[in-house]
Amino acid sequence: MKRRQFIAASTLALPGCERTQDIQGGFVGANHERGHLLREARSWSTPPLLRKTGVVIAGGGIAGLAAARALRQQGIDDFALLELEDTVGGNSRAGSVSGIACPLAAHYLPLPSDAAPEVQELLEELGLRHRVSGRWQYDERHLCHSPQERLFFKGSWQDGLLPMQDVGADTLAQYQKLSALVEQLRQRSRWTIPSFRQSLDATQLALARITFDMYLDQQGLSDPHLRWYLDYCCRDDYGAGTASVSAWAGIHYFAARHGFNVPGAQSQEREAVLTWPEGNAWLVRRMARPLAERIHSGQVVLRVANVKHGVEVDAFNTVTQKLERWQARRAIVALPVLAAARVTENPPDFLRHTANLIRYAPWLVANIHIREALFDRPGAAPSWDNVLYGTPGLGYVDAMHQSLQSVPGATVLTYYRALGDLPQGRPLLLTQSWSAWRDQILNELSAAHPDLAGKTTRVDISRYGHAMAVPVPHQTDRPRARTLSSGRLNFAHSDWAGYSVFEEAFTLGHHAA
Ligand SMILES: Cc1cc2nc3c(=O)[nH]c(=O)nc-3n(C[C@H](O)[C@H](O)[C@H](O)COP(=O)(O)OP(=O)(O)OC[C@H]3O[C@@H](n4cnc5c(N)ncnc54)[C@H](O)[C@@H]3O)c2cc1C
Repeated sequence: MKRRQFIAASTLALPGCERTQDIQGGFVGANHERGHLLREARSWSTPPLLRKTGVVIAGGGIAGLAAARALRQQGIDDFALLELEDTVGGNSRAGSVSGIACPLAAHYLPLPSDAAPEVQELLEELGLRHRVSGRWQYDERHLCHSPQERLFFKGSWQDGLLPMQDVGADTLAQYQKLSALVEQLRQRSRWTIPSFRQSLDATQLALARITFDMYLDQQGLSDPHLRWYLDYCCRDDYGAGTASVSAWAGIHYFAARHGFNVPGAQSQEREAVLTWPEGNAWLVRRMARPLAERIHSGQVVLRVANVKHGVEVDAFNTVTQKLERWQARRAIVALPVLAAARVTENPPDFLRHTANLIRYAPWLVANIHIREALFDRPGAAPSWDNVLYGTPGLGYVDAMHQSLQSVPGATVLTYYRALGDLPQGRPLLLTQSWSAWRDQILNELSAAHPDLAGKTTRVDISRYGHAMAVPVPHQTDRPRARTLSSGRLNFAHSDWAGYSVFEEAFTLGHHAA
């Protein structure tokens, strides 16, 4: 059987939900105990071990790694990067289940526009893009292979994620109306990724004050299929839906990319993305490689302070179980804003203010190992991104999609769920048992894949209590500076952009350095 062929499932579907108790797995990923050490920060005694370096980078996510790269570009090698986890990468780390690499969170990077020259330069350095006859070309092996995405809608799979199968004329008219509105807004204002260094004009400021739901209601855009799709997009990018995010964020999702395209319309264009079996950890590994011994993992930064002739950074070394004090000329605080506000001594007003303003979305990511290919419902062929209409989750991506194997077989399906809209999302995430999550997720996906539970061998679940900043209304007075600094401390993290994507984290880190 060829990779893209599929078998209509209705006659072949296996039951199997009753067999979930045989499925192995557990919680993996972020170390919550280490994170909780931050709460005890003020009660630590004087650290015995003194260490010196030129620059301390606190936090080894994309922002911290980008800062380290930029220091090296300036010829500064005298620095130490302190990371709480055992490996760097933050939300862009990878795992593996039964020998198959898979993302623990971030899994793709859209091709950066000219508004992200720093990211373009990184991709060039990594050999992902090069000039051919004066035009930029991306390495085909790393561009998401076709078919890219499909939606399980009305009992079958359709190509693309915007519901199209048998929708009425009213629905199509509303799609067209939103498409025209987004186009008008694109003409009127500047929409870029990264957005953090751009100041908002009056139109954008007005959009930033209301929720996306309010805007859609004002425009009479009430079609349930359109509203589901927009809610899905916002949950997918921002961790919370249209009721939570600002209208600026809702429009930005489309306007900063290629608009809101209705299939069949002239300018129809699907977003080209770079992706890897292990997700954005592919980029992380290459950014971390030249840093070698400058990376100090398993170090929980507990205190960052401007002192008379430099900075002091206290970190708990989880290997020696001792506190260490780093003395340096400067520090780059590439921590989530919540953590930065906790550890920074005498935090500057902009840090305190932003920490009070930020609302975090919790996320759950489940890596589901299946021992053989799933039977499939009729319609569009298995794709990289597979979404089920009307479900609480965001569907799954297939870790083996980029492989060139001709026969589908064992793989890992990475399932995503954003909990930013649930008032009790964080306690639910942290208290619900692994087996309850396992059964809930398999049950959700079984509408499209009744044989899933029977073919699943393992489910590894990563939980992120404060995964990303949600771009809620009234965040317009956030600092939008090129460099956020206080004394000898510079701050960088995607939180400063108000929402979390690679381009924002990377560019902020680059400029902090
Ligand atoms: C589930 C999920 C899916 C995502 N998917 C995508 C995607 O496909 N594409 C995309 O572009 N973006 C995606 N994102 C967004 C992702 O957050 C960004 O791309 C990027 O990885 C953020 O990097 P950062 O450096 O800003 O933050 P973080 O990843 O939060 O990095 C902060 C680092 O600081 C460390 N740290 C925290 N406290 C301390 C301390 N006290 N001491 C020392 N170290 C500390 C953390 O361990 C972490 O390594 C996703 C996010 C999530 C949660």
